[in-house]
Amino acid sequence: MQEKIIADHILEKMTLDNVFNILNDNLFAFLNQEEIDYCKDLQEFCLELDPKIDKTKDVYVLFPELGKKGYMQRINKWKDFTPYGMKKEMLLGLHLSCLDSQLELARLASGILCGNPTFHYFHHGGESPEVAKIQDELMSGQKVGCICITEPERGSDAVNMTTQCMKIDDGVIYNGEKVFTTNGPKADYFATYGVYDTSNPRGTMVQAMIKREMGVKTNRLTINAVPRVHIAHTFFENVKVPADYILGDDGMGYSRLFEGLVPERLGIVGSGLGICWTALIYGIIYTNLRRQFGQEVGNFQGVGFSLADLLSQISSATALSFSAATIYDEKVLFAEKKSGAAEKWVAGISSQGKYLVSKLTHKTCYTVQQQMGGISVTDNTLVDELTDTSKIEEVIGGARNIQLFIIQNALRRYKKIL
Ligand SMILES: Cc1cc2nc3c(=O)[nH]c(=O)nc-3n(C[C@H](O)[C@H](O)[C@H](O)COP(=O)(O)OP(=O)(O)OC[C@H]3O[C@@H](n4cnc5c(N)ncnc54)[C@H](O)[C@@H]3O)c2cc1C
Repeated sequence: MQEKIIADHILEKMTLDNVFNILNDNLFAFLNQEEIDYCKDLQEFCLELDPKIDKTKDVYVLFPELGKKGYMQRINKWKDFTPYGMKKEMLLGLHLSCLDSQLELARLASGILCGNPTFHYFHHGGESPEVAKIQDELMSGQKVGCICITEPERGSDAVNMTTQCMKIDDGVIYNGEKVFTTNGPKADYFATYGVYDTSNPRGTMVQAMIKREMGVKTNRLTINAVPRVHIAHTFFENVKVPADYILGDDGMGYSRLFEGLVPERLGIVGSGLGICWTALIYGIIYTNLRRQFGQEVGNFQGVGFSLADLLSQISSATALSFSAATIYDEKVLFAEKKSGAAEKWVAGISSQGKYLVSKLTHKTCYTVQQQMGGISVTDNTLVDELTDTSKIEEVIGGARNIQLFIIQNALRRYKKIL
């Protein structure tokens, strides 16, 4: 904090501990005992790490701390860290956003967007010891990962990518350019998509885990909203990727890309829920203590009704998101026989959830700032940092309209049953 103007008696209550107390009052009713215990462990971890976070430093110094507890991701089982699954991942993202929303953004890119493809690879029978080593390094937080899908001319239209792959005897050569690579400037590993034939991307897409030393170049983009996260313009110029690093070849890259999208979107929903709850709770704490016209400002209906409205929306969004995660766990991730109907439903609902929650992060932060007044745009509270991160939530993982595009496509299918 550069210059303090917030009153001491309010500042001493604006703590992560109090955020969790109010969160638990609203959250635990949604959870079973195993999930409650998992949240309590997470909260203990966050409360211990919180005083050690130096906001003048990049978030990457904190990755090994997450890795020690198996918190780089929790969808998949890694080492003996339990419990795991989609709902646990959502709860992880939620809590880490309460702790540090920029750390959570970078963690999701490394642990889920880059890490998940390694789990999918082994799930589908892959055996490369190189990939096993990469997975361990990413999960322990010792190394940083990123995902390279978006290109300068292929954003929402990601499938029609132009990054060109060429097969050689012992691997694949990549040539192309990617943008918005979250963690890119710091990354050791790049989960990268390219195609053998740009006129047939679905049939020829390749997914590879590329090491920086193979020749990847990155330039950092200036993105003011998240200064502690590095986001890159990434170049692959005749980058030779040995066969051991190819996760999905000859069109398999396309199915792996789509396999990753659902957990990725649900993961982003978890981060978004954390932003919503944290901003709202800081708003509740502050307006319960700040006095004007002889009383606490939260007593004025103009303030209190607005926060009540947000609470109703965030509770509803939380219920929807937890249902989606639970159904994904029960009928897809842990199911002996995956339910096709559930897979389809979760694919749709993950877009609905991503659309709803990421938009709600923005609305919540904006509204809370209006209700808290001037203090909320200073660095005396965390709310302005949450507002900045909320800008990214809407665009990362597919912009708002692309979620609506996916949802609309599903609506169009109903014509067939009329
Ligand atoms: C901070 C940040 C981090 C990111 N991290 C990563 C990352 O780690 N890896 C990665 O690969 N990508 C990443 N992205 C890229 C992100 O997924 C893209 O920005 C997103 O997919 C949209 O692409 P675009 O920005 O090129 O927009 P465009 O596709 O050019 O879209 C421009 C506008 O047109 C709309 N639009 C496009 N097509 C349609 C349509 N058919 N119907 C209606 N509206 C449409 C869009 O919604 C948008 O409003 C990140 C982006 C940002 C900003």
